[in-house]
Amino acid sequence: MSKMRAMVVREAGGKLQLEERDVPQPGSQEACIRVHACGVCHSDSFVVEGHMPGLAYPRIPGHEVIGVIEALGAEVRGWKAGQRVGVGWFGGACGYCGHCRRGDGFACENIRGATGITRDGGYATHMLALASALVHVPDSLDAVESAPLLCAGITTFNALRNCGAGPGDLVAIHGVGGLGHLGVQFAARQGFRTVAVNRGRDKEALARSLGAHDYIDSAATDPAAALQAMGGAKAIIATVTNAAAMQAIAGGLGVNGTLMVIGAVGALTVDSLNLLGKRAAVKGWYSGTAADSEDTLAFSRQNGVTSMNEVFPLEEAQAAYDRMMSGKARFRVVLKVGS
Ligand SMILES: [Zn+2]
Ligand SMILES: [Zn+2]
Repeated sequence: MSKMRAMVVREAGGKLQLEERDVPQPGSQEACIRVHACGVCHSDSFVVEGHMPGLAYPRIPGHEVIGVIEALGAEVRGWKAGQRVGVGWFGGACGYCGHCRRGDGFACENIRGATGITRDGGYATHMLALASALVHVPDSLDAVESAPLLCAGITTFNALRNCGAGPGDLVAIHGVGGLGHLGVQFAARQGFRTVAVNRGRDKEALARSLGAHDYIDSAATDPAAALQAMGGAKAIIATVTNAAAMQAIAGGLGVNGTLMVIGAVGALTVDSLNLLGKRAAVKGWYSGTAADSEDTLAFSRQNGVTSMNEVFPLEEAQAAYDRMMSGKARFRVVLKVGS
């Protein structure tokens, strides 16, 4: 039986450890993917640190995967061995439950959970995925460069296209980091008047080079007041991982504005007076389905949106993870696995 290598978390709070295993056989609805690259995402800390109830170990993290189909289960239709594919956070959908039938497959009632969280992910040479989770990846996209588009990319792209703003509307990208550096590119290319918001001026030049029309230093100025001075934001895409920072910018919403929460920060306090008088809203956003990932890849390719990455070999996944958690990576961290 052929062997695979994986970087495994054996227990909550444990280090990523190299293991050799048998390559798994795909179930009837699954594909076995030979992994070329996998992004390292802040959400991987749910598994590594055990910050989510009910997780099972050992577990292989990783939900920004690009590779090629090596084998298919007997009942898979529409895919063939050798095809380039990706897998994101979305773990698949049944297609027949109430939510799937209404176009909300992200909330499938039968297939719950997420890649690299409740099933093994892409910190490995091989992984299994349900066929309904597979993403077509164009040949022209490089695996290492593009892997982060399958989480950081889709999440910002999809939140922006569902935020209620139209071309020319004021949209703030809160946080210029792993998510935000992509969010700025997508917002500008989707036609919004794009304002980047970050602490300090370090990232201003970069944010402007990525397409931001304006920049707010949230350490030196009240970001809510600054957005109000510009007329109020139609949407704020909150990518930060700090609840206090998110609360401080919520008052920058304009009439009918929406705060799109995509950073996981736990409990959030928002002044109701900042919402009701303006008919403003706070809304969570799930990254998206396999089809949303394909839209993200196609849009990125057509409009030159790229992720800035630091690349590590698979066996250095622990160093890669530590670098990501340090907050110092510019801006995403990617494991180069194979070819
Ligand atoms: Zn992620
Ligand atoms: Zn379903």
